[in-house]
Amino acid sequence: MTHNQKSADVSFESLLKIFTIPEGPDSTLTQIEAELSHNLNQFLREHIVAEEKPLTEIERDFSDPAIPEQPQFVSEHTDHLMNTLVAHSVHTSAPSFIGHMTSALPYFLMPLSKIMIALNQNLVKIETSKAFTPLERQVLGMLHRLIYRQHDGFYQQWMHSASHSLGAFCSGGTIANITALWVARNNTLKATSDFPGIEQAGIGQALAYYGYKGLAILVSERGHYSLKKAADVLGIGQQGLVSIATDEHNRIVIDDLQQKIAELKQQGIKPFAVVGVAGTTETGNIDPLGDIADICHHEQCHFHVDAAWGGATLLSDKYRHLLSGIELADSVTIDAHKQLYIPMGAGMVLFKDPDAMKAVEHHAQYILRHGSKDLGSHTLEGSRSGIAMLLYSSMHIISRPGYGMLIDQGIEKARYFAELIQESTDFELVSEPELCLLTYRYVPENIAATMHKATKEQCLTLNNALNELTQFIQKTQRETGRSFVSRTQLNPARWYHHPTVVFRVVLANPLTSREILQAILQQQREIARLAPQLMANISRIAYSIENSTPMP
Ligand SMILES: *Cc1c(COP(=O)(O)O)cnc(C)c1O
Repeated sequence: MTHNQKSADVSFESLLKIFTIPEGPDSTLTQIEAELSHNLNQFLREHIVAEEKPLTEIERDFSDPAIPEQPQFVSEHTDHLMNTLVAHSVHTSAPSFIGHMTSALPYFLMPLSKIMIALNQNLVKIETSKAFTPLERQVLGMLHRLIYRQHDGFYQQWMHSASHSLGAFCSGGTIANITALWVARNNTLKATSDFPGIEQAGIGQALAYYGYKGLAILVSERGHYSLKKAADVLGIGQQGLVSIATDEHNRIVIDDLQQKIAELKQQGIKPFAVVGVAGTTETGNIDPLGDIADICHHEQCHFHVDAAWGGATLLSDKYRHLLSGIELADSVTIDAHKQLYIPMGAGMVLFKDPDAMKAVEHHAQYILRHGSKDLGSHTLEGSRSGIAMLLYSSMHIISRPGYGMLIDQGIEKARYFAELIQESTDFELVSEPELCLLTYRYVPENIAATMHKATKEQCLTLNNALNELTQFIQKTQRETGRSFVSRTQLNPARWYHHPTVVFRVVLANPLTSREILQAILQQQREIARLAPQLMANISRIAYSIENSTPMP
């Protein structure tokens, strides 16, 4: 690549310009900015190329480990980015991309995030975030009130209190879950008159002092993998994350929860936290939160609700009741970068008790002094962006009823899609939508009837063959680049708990129409025909089941 003379110069004068004057009005960057503000969807449609480039080829564009020795003009570099990076990005906001929790974004977040970046506030301490700190505390107050519905006096008293905290902003649900369980752990192994607390003494001494052989966190088998990370970093160990059985609706089985708690206690292990899931990542189901709360109350253990994805449902008058019992939780995780339509990097954890986070309070001399309002004294992360501003703005611009409508349309569209699947003779609905998430698979015509007649062993053989087909369809559909559903593996009771590969669909994008959903099913049927061998294999197995002949 040839650089012109000017771009090859490194001068302090030109470096100063980077911090002050931008390039002229006809630069590539200015053009791109104009396109982005004029029509976000069109920008993405035009600049992301549809056809799939193999990852290994994309990697070739990003293979040079040397830091460039020569500077580049901003416009020149932007061209490079458009061709290498933007062109092969994933069009996550396409209305036919219904496989992810990563959502489309409202247009106003583009210019507003520029304000956020321009101000570059650091929320770790008030010195670098005056105005942003109270804003963030207010946003946490809004979410707290949405969940716990305390009286106005409560928020006047605690929202801006230096020594209290209604919760924390963080980069996502993972850190939010870790924070909740960190608080729960420290409150369980807290300081006494002759023990300095786990935060000082460490886990070994803390367990010895309290006479526990270990600690356990309990969650249903549909719990998110971030809880494994939490168990690991908190010194509990992944073995300390105890998995509880789920029923046919993917909800935690309360009897099993009680039994596991009893077993742990008998072994001298302290079950210090139970996690209820409000919107499981794979199936979108909600645990019986009220029942879990009763058990936690009785066992004196921390009740955390992982509502990273489903928590936004509280904004809907029509469906908020689905999460009833969440107000009994000691802590709740909600991701703003899922159903609150905020860009990536916005998670939150809320605590019912404004004193709860004292268990993880940290102080330092130059910042986070005692009595300061520095948010960093209660967060796992240090330096943090002012992304709370984007949620603050969205709450004002969209408003609560507006968010409610977005939630309602998603749930109702999922119900429509479920009906569409059930009316089709060649699709099987695997998990019904409780929120806007459902799973299903393609089962060729007449095979469903055979499935119901099959013995357990025959069913396994047929299921394995169907799994191959589901994987093929999902992969091929993704590679065509026009539409996308994701895939996961479940163990439905209906199919003897056999591993069953399914399509997973999340319907949060308001631009996803019913026609798009119909087209997605049609496309999947057509892709199935591109795999005659897989289809023939399924027919052959079905034939031998129907005719009770041994499998050839
Ligand atoms: C997405 C999700 C998480 C993890 O959140 P990140 O923002 O990806 O870290 C945790 N729990 C549930 C239920 C989720 O859906």
